Amino acid sequence: MCCSSFDGEKTNPTESHATVDLQAIKGMRFFDPHVHMTSRTTDDYQAMYDAGVVALIEPAFWLGQPRTGIDSFRDYYSSLIGWERFRSSQFGIKHYCTIGLNSREANNESLAEQVMEILPLFIMKEGVVGIGEIGFDDQTAAEEKYYRQQLELAKEAALPVQIHTPHRDKKRGTRRSMDIALEHGLSPDMVIVDHNNEETVKEVLDRGFWAAFTIYPFTKMGNERMVDIIKQYGTERIMVNSAADWGISDPLAVPKTAALMKLRGISNHDIRLVTYQNAITAFGKSGQINEDDFVTIKNIDQSVKFEGNTVLRGGQQPRIDKASIIIS
Ligand SMILES: [Zn+2]
Repeated sequence: MCCSSFDGEKTNPTESHATVDLQAIKGMRFFDPHVHMTSRTTDDYQAMYDAGVVALIEPAFWLGQPRTGIDSFRDYYSSLIGWERFRSSQFGIKHYCTIGLNSREANNESLAEQVMEILPLFIMKEGVVGIGEIGFDDQTAAEEKYYRQQLELAKEAALPVQIHTPHRDKKRGTRRSMDIALEHGLSPDMVIVDHNNEETVKEVLDRGFWAAFTIYPFTKMGNERMVDIIKQYGTERIMVNSAADWGISDPLAVPKTAALMKLRGISNHDIRLVTYQNAITAFGKSGQINEDDFVTIKNIDQSVKFEGNTVLRGGQQPRIDKASIIIS
């Protein structure tokens, strides 16, 4: 979408492959099961909608700097089930979330204790499809303690778990995350192990867990590598996400990866599994996902209010013609 105005300037086929043409996946529907929309703009919502993203999951995570008190956790969780969901709906995208204490902030134990007290108030709310993203960052004792407590919470609530695997010492951290989940009696089909790569995928799939892949520029996985993984491992229990956040990231990573898969000869059926259906099957175990809602939410009215506020600023007309150079 972003590059469509440059179509006429493409000279050779290699270049056109380099700028993935989203026309190839026109009409397909996508589900991004990991994207931090709170840190994104309305332009991103519009672009995602235009590219076919019909629903998404926003996991609770940290803000890029540590929170200093329990109230900022409380307000953040409230925004995930309130204002952000409303904002998403105004762009025709169904918004779900996972709620949890992220691994980094598990290391502030006095605050973590308070967070554990309020989590039960949020996890049973409408649209909460799991406990997440939780797990290991530096693989400290405090991280393990609150990871275990949250696994127990997930088990009691019969909710799926979305696991953030560490960037450093990933293979060991991923294995340890799975060992501990099994130790707590969680069924692997209730656990989505995220941020996989070539090093971790085989073990995650062999042990019966869901394997999520984050397509993130410069770190984690590029989507060329993702295509190779699908070719090697197939599509069962695999899902793709953007994990777009406040860093350099791409909220169109799921549709772009689908377009690249299409170019590389992967069938529409297989593309649909890894960019839509598998995530719905996994997180649908929460009992919270109804695909009919994706259609309903398209009948949007951007002048609708959420607790007195709209996505429009004073006097604005709903929807913007992005192709126009006139900003009025
Ligand atoms: Zn994340």
